[in-house]
Amino acid sequence: MTVYSGPVFDMAVNQFGVIANHLEIPMDERGRILMPKRAVTVSCPIHRDDGTVAVFEGYRVQHHLTLGPTKGGTRFAPSVDIGEVAALAIWMSWKCALVGLPYGGAKGGVNVDLSTISKRELEGLSRRYMQEMIPFVGPHTDVMAPDMGTNEQVMAWFMDTYSMYQGQTVTEIVTGKPVSSGGTLGRREATGRGVAYLAKRVLKELSINPGSATAVIQGFGNVGSYAALELQQYGLKIIAVSDHTGALHDPNGLDIPALMRHAGAHGSIAGFSNELTFDPEQILTLPCDVLVPAAMERVIDATVAENLKCRVLAEGANGPTTPEADLVLEKRQDEVFLIPDILCNSGGVVVSYFEWVQDLQQLFWEEEEVTRREYAILDRAFDHMLQRAKADKIPHRTAAMAIGVEKVRAAKNVRGLFP
Ligand code: NAD
Repeated sequence: MTVYSGPVFDMAVNQFGVIANHLEIPMDERGRILMPKRAVTVSCPIHRDDGTVAVFEGYRVQHHLTLGPTKGGTRFAPSVDIGEVAALAIWMSWKCALVGLPYGGAKGGVNVDLSTISKRELEGLSRRYMQEMIPFVGPHTDVMAPDMGTNEQVMAWFMDTYSMYQGQTVTEIVTGKPVSSGGTLGRREATGRGVAYLAKRVLKELSINPGSATAVIQGFGNVGSYAALELQQYGLKIIAVSDHTGALHDPNGLDIPALMRHAGAHGSIAGFSNELTFDPEQILTLPCDVLVPAAMERVIDATVAENLKCRVLAEGANGPTTPEADLVLEKRQDEVFLIPDILCNSGGVVVSYFEWVQDLQQLFWEEEEVTRREYAILDRAFDHMLQRAKADKIPHRTAAMAIGVEKVRAAKNVRGLFP
């Protein structure tokens, strides 16, 4: 038992055990690679609109400082606890190392149900959370970004709060900011675009024509909506989409730009169409070519994995597949091509890295350059994963994580015990 113990952290530990066994890492070295360097819990009191005071619990976990500052998103959701945040920080480390970024992983979050707070209260909470984090973060210590429940506006409040404390504008303290405040072109779309780009690559490997292929998307926030839009632009029909309010299904293909406008205006896909309403429980097992889970972790368990009817499983969300489901997918490797989360959704942190570099240099790139460089990094990491999986005869997730863990381990071994 540790302070982090819980279903999501246990899953990260379990996955690491598989990799550590594969890499034959000695037992006494494992804790040093796996356990987070630092974690902080803070109380965030805010004035509610009715004049009362409410207190929310916030967290930040920094996994390791071996390769540079830590980097990771901030999640505002009712599921958030220190164990979930620690697991997400660990996955972020393997992801950054896999794609070759000079970062360790971090993650943060606040336990809050956003449907119960107003925009003014959200601003108060965002500012108070960043204020509490000031002693622990910095452009060369730990750089925040958006995740579930946070967006460009929240990043702007974070950046403004940190800058007020410093007495100068420090854009490089967070990424995923609005372009008007030091953000980069192409960041909003980066994660979803990367998911779609890699899915298209796999369709090519499988000789499936995108023009006659179908896709199903779970989650219609930042990642899910832009993955859907990009896949539709590649010619795929998006036959089903779900979010926390329900699901829509249209065998002829949903109108994704119209659905994005609706979700932008109303905060969800609810009310878009009564005729197309569908059972969200069935969305993951619908027959399709590309399935993109882009919402929560642990939605694909062993039973769902047995019943998947997709050709490509493109993991937009972090940790959507349980270790038990991985065992099933290992047996079904020839039927379902897995693009594991740490590769599939890494376009987000890759472009966050570009944003940080641009902010540090005050030299900004065109969107075409951002996206071209993003895809080049994704292609290189994809090739690397595939070669490793074939050479060692291991599943894609094991190969991707092994590359990440190996890089962190090598750097730790030449530096010593500090980072
Ligand atoms: P978001 O808050 O923008 O969207 C989340 C979506 O999931 C919403 O549409 C919400 O309604 C939906 N959802 C929530 N619970 C659901 C449920 N039970 N069933 C179906 N849908 C549900 O979040 P996001 O930034 O798009 O993040 C989604 C996932 O992608 C998370 O796992 C996150 O960690 C991961 N991720 C995000 C980024 C990024 O750049 N934003 C990068 C890498 C990974």
